Amino acid sequence: MSFSLIQGQKRAIENLKQSLQRDKLHHAYLFCGPEGIGKKKSALELAKALNCDKPGPEGGCDQCPACRKIENRIHPDLIHLEPEGVHIRIEQIRNLGQQLAYGPALGRSRLCLLDMASDLNEPAANAFLKTLEEPPPGTIFVLLVRDPGELLPTLVSRCVSIAFNPLSLSLIADKLVEEKGVSREEARALSLVSGGSLGKAFQYVKTNFWKKQETWITQLEGLSQAGMAQLLGWAKGWLGSREETQENLEIGQWCLRDLIWVRAGLKDKVSLRPHLIERVRALASSLPHAVWLKRLTLVQQAAVYNSQNVNAQLNWEVLFLKMARVY
Ligand SMILES: [Zn+2]
Repeated sequence: MSFSLIQGQKRAIENLKQSLQRDKLHHAYLFCGPEGIGKKKSALELAKALNCDKPGPEGGCDQCPACRKIENRIHPDLIHLEPEGVHIRIEQIRNLGQQLAYGPALGRSRLCLLDMASDLNEPAANAFLKTLEEPPPGTIFVLLVRDPGELLPTLVSRCVSIAFNPLSLSLIADKLVEEKGVSREEARALSLVSGGSLGKAFQYVKTNFWKKQETWITQLEGLSQAGMAQLLGWAKGWLGSREETQENLEIGQWCLRDLIWVRAGLKDKVSLRPHLIERVRALASSLPHAVWLKRLTLVQQAAVYNSQNVNAQLNWEVLFLKMARVY
């Protein structure tokens, strides 16, 4: 890996490379953009460029001990902070302060990566602000966030923001074929639901998007006839961790969205597997448009509730009971 291998982020990478070449790096950066588009990889490349034995115009050499240690995330001057549980806690920031009291251990520069910086809870964010106000020498901070609006404005104002863009769908489809061995047709469909995030597309492959898609369609077909026990059984079947629930609800939303699109004659822009199209077309036309829109809204609401930490089982049960009552 070197800067040249990070794809789809030309402007952000050029910005970093120029600052490196002119020796004008700021002490704190905010890498902004959706997850899974190369922000963390770019931060690691920056750490390599700063500590490599033979850095070139494209950053680290990837061969020397420093580059290899950074790639394997075992370099003592690469500090990686991420949420312990829901938040990055104040104890983690205090520990960081103690670590930073000494200069870089091995390299010339130390890179401190705050992953999901928006998950700093308020006391931790205030403690971290003090660190940013009095930056220790030889240390560069990189904060990864989806949107700068998720951070305290006082933190944002002390960092240089670099925007990372969602990736093109064709790039995502190519990577799915090359690196995950999925078929061209499946890659195209998955790229449509990736939101421009390669990480999301890879995650969907790992968690078997297609099986879940088929399950959703089967349950949507059975909704109007299903009895209470059946509905509650389906609800139970979707239970998982909060992240899994969020993903399962997202897939449900894509199924309903695709169904509405197929109903409107737009089957070329959907993520449905080809063998499901005719089933979905028949299902879509069996009920009025408003019913499907209402059901889609209910799944969207359930996703919002899930992100607000409601009881997952109740959330799924209420969703299925409500969806079955809409017709
Ligand atoms: Zn190197």
